[in-house]
Amino acid sequence: MEVSRLLNIHDMARIGCNDCKGCFSCCQGMGDSVVLTPYDVHVLSVKLQMPVDNLFQEWLSLSVVDGLIQPGMAMNGEGEKCHALDSEGRCSIHAFRPSICRLFPLGRQYTEDGIKYFVLEGACPAPVKTKVKISKWVERLEFKEHETFLVQWHEFKKLCMAKLAEIEDENYHRQLMMYVLQLFFRKPYAEGNFYKEFLARLEEAKEILGGE
Ligand code: SF4
Ligand code: SF4
Repeated sequence: MEVSRLLNIHDMARIGCNDCKGCFSCCQGMGDSVVLTPYDVHVLSVKLQMPVDNLFQEWLSLSVVDGLIQPGMAMNGEGEKCHALDSEGRCSIHAFRPSICRLFPLGRQYTEDGIKYFVLEGACPAPVKTKVKISKWVERLEFKEHETFLVQWHEFKKLCMAKLAEIEDENYHRQLMMYVLQLFFRKPYAEGNFYKEFLARLEEAKEILGGE
C-alpha cells in the first residue's frame, strides 16, 4: 500500500469520509490488524463497564503481532465483522473506539522529532475526501500526556522484541510474553489513574527485562 509524505499533527490531510455513511469496510476482515494499546483496553473496560477478563472473552482476540502477544478487536462470523459493529453497520463504541480506528486511514510513525502521520493511500474507499486537520481527526487522544504514553509504549515494545529475540528457551520466551500481556493488558488499571499506573508498570517491566 502506498503512503503519503510524513505529516505533522497540525497539517491538513484529505481523509474526511462523510462520516463513513453506508460503509464499514475497515471494520471487517481486518484479521489481527486492529491492535489495541493498554489504554484502549482500559477505556473499553471502563466505558463498557465490563471487567477486563470478560472483555478478553467476548470482545477481543489475541495474536502474536511484531513478536508480542497483543490484543485486537475480535473479527467474528461471516464476513469477519468486528465485534463492535452493530446490525446497522455502525461502530457501537464510536465515542471510545480504539486509537487505531480513530486514526484510520492515517498511520502513525515514531521519529526522532516525535510522532508523525501519513495517509494510507487507497485504504478508505469513500469516493470524495474532504480536507481535515489531523489534530481534529485524532480528536482528544493525541494530547501531550497521551502522546508521551504512545511513545513510551512504542519504545517498550521495541525493547521487548529485542530482548525476546535473544531468548532461545521457548518456555521462558512464552513466559515473558505472557508476563507483558498480564502486566499491561489483563491487570486492571484504576479509573482515572491510567498514565501513572502505566508508568509504574513500565519501570517494573524494564527492570525484569534488563532494559535501561
Ligand atoms: S473505509 Fe473509510 S468510509 Fe469506510 S468505514 Fe472505514 S473510514 Fe469509514
Ligand atoms: S472498533 Fe469500531 S471502528 Fe474499530 S474496527 Fe471495530 S467497529 Fe470498526
